[in-house]
Amino acid sequence: MTTSLFDLYKIGVGPSSSHTMGPMRAACRFVRELDRDGLLGGAMRVETDLYGSLALTGKGHATDRAILLGLEGNEPAAIDPAAIESSVAGIRDSRRIQLAGKHAIVFDEPSDLLFHRDQMFPPGARMQHPNGLRFTVFGRDGAIVARRIYFSIGGGFIVEDGETEAPTHASEVHLPFPFHSAAELLAVARAHSLTIDRVMLANECARLRALDPGASETSLETRVRAGIEHIRQTMQECVERGMAAEGILPGGLEVRRRARRLAERLRERDASGKPCDPLAPLDWVTVYAMAVNEENAAGGRVVTAPTNGAAGVVPAVALYYRNFVEGSSDEGLVRFFLASAAIGALYKENASISGAEVGCQGEVGVACSMAAAGLVAALGGGDGQVNNGRIEHAAEIAMEHNLGMTCDPIGGLVQIPCIERNAMGAAKAVQAARLAMNEPETHKVSLDQVIRTMYLTGLDMQSRYKETSLAGLALNVIEC
Ligand code: SF4
Repeated sequence: MTTSLFDLYKIGVGPSSSHTMGPMRAACRFVRELDRDGLLGGAMRVETDLYGSLALTGKGHATDRAILLGLEGNEPAAIDPAAIESSVAGIRDSRRIQLAGKHAIVFDEPSDLLFHRDQMFPPGARMQHPNGLRFTVFGRDGAIVARRIYFSIGGGFIVEDGETEAPTHASEVHLPFPFHSAAELLAVARAHSLTIDRVMLANECARLRALDPGASETSLETRVRAGIEHIRQTMQECVERGMAAEGILPGGLEVRRRARRLAERLRERDASGKPCDPLAPLDWVTVYAMAVNEENAAGGRVVTAPTNGAAGVVPAVALYYRNFVEGSSDEGLVRFFLASAAIGALYKENASISGAEVGCQGEVGVACSMAAAGLVAALGGGDGQVNNGRIEHAAEIAMEHNLGMTCDPIGGLVQIPCIERNAMGAAKAVQAARLAMNEPETHKVSLDQVIRTMYLTGLDMQSRYKETSLAGLALNVIEC
């Protein structure tokens, strides 16, 4: 298991992890490697070719802007969302781009950034994933100086064509509790009398130890906890910004932000002194999730969880736990993030978290499964091994009822159905966790079986239902 909590929960910018963050990271990696290899100074022109889903929905997902920013050497985690608009306008107005922030060349966007809407894969690519992109640098005489193909494989992860997915250093880390399936995760936890979050914590510490062999156990754990707190804080700030902002979301669909007005209505209702509605917390879950996804649609700062399109589910359920569960604690939240990441890693490594590869079941479905598992871990209590079984069960229930969910965003924008879908995913996660908590330990369908089913269902799904905006709602609802 090479996927870390900090791979799944990455700080970045909206609106899409696969179509915005991934391409930005690929462009940035390309120019940095040019610089490293001493080729940057000879570059006279750079051409970017987009294929498959990136070509079909890239405009709506801001892939074009991401490429420009990446070619200038920007990373999603570091870029200031407030500066994006002016940086992109600067490149377009001047028709010049600073490769890696160092080497300025002419950039003619219509001929240097090409959307191949009729081609699924880059020519000659060995790998076949629907999110392919190719960069080519030409020298003074027009000859090709360098050419690389990358794939954005979901959740902001990228691989170069022909590269194995796991970076070498990660696969070489000796993890104290390796697992490759939910069954192995439960077995290793049982064998060492650990809870799932403790298994994950020990593995995260081991990853840090590989980078800093002299560090003490205590300092490693402190650093993992600080990293989790940074993720949690970034999510909370995103919710707060989303609940404060108003206006129309970008992209031309004229979708109005709703989280702020919904939150105001809930506060008025809560202050009115009327008898308490027992389902009121669920209304807040809806608001939290929509706030995040409206921020994402606006290109704001979000945390992939495990993707941008599904970024609202996990924060909404984490805030539900913190604000509405009696006896909730910071420690409970740490358990929430560790256990949810263990489940997310299973999907990442045994199936897919890419809407372009398996539909929305791989995005909101996976987020729902992670959040359900996290909530059970946070609620904890009792026998750790019994609770491990409930975590696995909650994750399984949550995915079982997302199986087959397609990806058909209207206008190629991460707005309809995505924003409301996160609210539905968060509510379903709470329900799945509650069902698992109230059930006897045994259940018919295992998490491994449902992960496998999700993946095979995704492969069987017609490609027009996988982030192409050629079917479903995107086809049947007229954009206006
Ligand atoms: S429908 Fe789901 S997978 Fe597709 S863009 Fe929206 S959130 Fe992502």
